[in-house]
Amino acid sequence: LKVNVTEIDIPMAFGPAFEGERVRGADLHVQCGGGKTQCTELVKMAQMNEIEDGKVILEGPDVTDLKEGETFPLGIYVQIAGREFQEDFEPIMERQIHHLVNYIQGIMHIGQRDISWVRISKAAMEKGFSLKHIGVVLHAKFHQDFKKIVDKVQVTLYTKTEDVDKITARARAEYQTRDSRVDSMTDEDVEIFYSCTLCQSFAPNHVCSVSPERTGLCGAYNWMDCRAAFEINPTGPNQPIEKGECIDPKLGQWKGVNEFVQKASRGAVTHYNFYSMVHDPMTTCGCCECIAAMLPSCNGVMTVGRDYPGDTPCGMKFTTLAGVMGGGACSPGFVGHSKHNITQGKFILGDGGLLRMVWMPKMLKEELKDRIDARGAAMGVPDLYDKIADETVGITEEEILPFLQEKGHPALSMEPLIG
Ligand code: SF4
Ligand code: ZN
Repeated sequence: LKVNVTEIDIPMAFGPAFEGERVRGADLHVQCGGGKTQCTELVKMAQMNEIEDGKVILEGPDVTDLKEGETFPLGIYVQIAGREFQEDFEPIMERQIHHLVNYIQGIMHIGQRDISWVRISKAAMEKGFSLKHIGVVLHAKFHQDFKKIVDKVQVTLYTKTEDVDKITARARAEYQTRDSRVDSMTDEDVEIFYSCTLCQSFAPNHVCSVSPERTGLCGAYNWMDCRAAFEINPTGPNQPIEKGECIDPKLGQWKGVNEFVQKASRGAVTHYNFYSMVHDPMTTCGCCECIAAMLPSCNGVMTVGRDYPGDTPCGMKFTTLAGVMGGGACSPGFVGHSKHNITQGKFILGDGGLLRMVWMPKMLKEELKDRIDARGAAMGVPDLYDKIADETVGITEEEILPFLQEKGHPALSMEPLIG
């Protein structure tokens, strides 16, 4: 692998060679995000005269001010101006932060949006790492990799709690606006889906297929975003896929998708279903916002988000699930998906859809309340929200079953999940 240090002015080595590198417990100096503190990323378009190219602002203490083992909050706010730049490109640039920060030797980056996690090693600190280097890297690489659309890049790093909270609230509103861009579209409306193979550096056989009603499992790319990414980079990781002949309308399987996936996974994955987690689900990589799992004795499913650290009724915590499922394999009975996907129209529709959902962490449930209400009503169960158990009801199937029975959860009267 090529290590490219010449063009990026930081004291650490930099390049794809370091992308898969972990920062383990004994090597860790400080960290942010990962359920311990807030860590948020936001890219926004700016006017040409509004920003200064190459400027990196650090608002608050640097990592050099922290003691070993400490945690800190972080907001990474990137402003981009360019004659050819469009608001539609923001999510694409934002998703680059993940691998670009990972390219820095001794720094590890996991996740995206408002659930990012950055671990900084002792080795990086010894070399003189400063949070400002994140800005230096993003400025340099955005210019290098996106010449056509980028003229100016300014990066602000926030490390004071009140600033991070402020940028997080703003970012969440932006994510919502982006997510809702595909809300009025259905999979039947289009002949073209898009692939995403951005994660193959971590999960070599993993191929996300993104349709209007299935955003990428990281939550960062929806159908519109993939279309925009293809426009920017026609030979890049987001390619149009002609759906082709429909093999199974209920489970969501198409000939054109299968052929694409087989090629893009170099034969490792021959086919998968968009709308099922029970039968040959889509492959899962470690970036997923949530992982759904079957709960056979409740005749339903549960899902858990990255930000919930506790035990779940499937017997595994999120981190364990991600460790088992996240390598890019297809794991029947489990599937990685985005938060937004839970309330999209085709979510595991082949298995009964959202009406199968019997358990979610309280935090995730509350975050999606309005959308669960709307989707439940559309599926004929307007009070679905109140029938879904959470950790306050129980964290085992035995604990939540009496609650589901008492509430008359629709999953209990559906056809057997495995049959
Ligand atoms: Fe692309 Fe899927 Fe990775 Fe998201 S999780 S960046 S959609 S491959
Ligand atoms: Zn991934």
